[in-house]
Amino acid sequence: KDTAGAMTGALTYKNMSVEDVMTPMERTFMLDVDDKLSFEKIAAVFKTGYSRIPVYEISRHNVIGLLFVKDLIFIDPEDEVPIRSFIQIFGRNVHVVWPNDNLGEVLAELKKGKSHLALVRDVDNEDDTKDPVYVMRGIITLEDIIEKIIGDS
Ligand code: ATP
Ligand code: ATP
Repeated sequence: KDTAGAMTGALTYKNMSVEDVMTPMERTFMLDVDDKLSFEKIAAVFKTGYSRIPVYEISRHNVIGLLFVKDLIFIDPEDEVPIRSFIQIFGRNVHVVWPNDNLGEVLAELKKGKSHLALVRDVDNEDDTKDPVYVMRGIITLEDIIEKIIGDS
C-alpha cells in the first residue's frame, strides 16, 4: 500500500469501532469444551492456521476460555485429552469488548494485556418479554486493528 493510504488509515482508525473490523461469529472458529483433542480435532485446528481458539460451553455465545494452539505441542492425539482439562479459564487478562467500542481505545487495551484477542460481546434485549442476554458478535485481534491503521484491507 502507498504512503498516502497508510496515512489515511492511521488518521481514520481512531474514529472506527470494533464492529467495523472484527471477525464476525459466522467466521470465528471455536471448539466445544465437551469435545476431545482427537487426531481429527487437532488436524482441524491446524488446518485453520489460527493461534488462538475460543472455547465455548453448550452455546457459541458462552465462551469460557481460549485454547492456545502452541500448547498442543504437548498433546498425544492417542490420549484424546478432553478440551475442558486443557483450556485456560478466563482471567483478568482476557478482554471482552463492545461492538461499538472505539478502535483507538481497544488497541491501547490489547497492547496492555497479555492476549492479543478479545471477544466482542453485546446485549440482546430485542425481546422485551425476556431478560436481556449476552450474545457473542465475533472476535477482534491486534492484527485486525493494525491492518486498518496501515490501510491494508
Ligand atoms: P498469529 O498471527 O499471532 O499467529 P493468528 O494468525 O491466529 O495469530 P491474527 O494474526 O491475530 O491470528 O489474526 C488474523 C485474522 O484472523 C484476524 O482477522 C482475526 O480476527 C482472525 N482470527 C484469529 N483467530 C481466529 C479464530 N479462532 N477464528 C476465526 N478468525 C480468527
Ligand atoms: P455480570 O457481572 O453482569 O454477571 P458476567 O459475569 O457475565 O457479567 P463480566 O463480569 O463482564 O461478565 O465478566 C466476568 C468474566 O466472564 C470475565 O472473566 C469475562 O472475561 C468473562 N466473560 C464475559 N462475557 C463472556 C462471554 N460472552 N463468553 C465468555 N466469557 C465471558
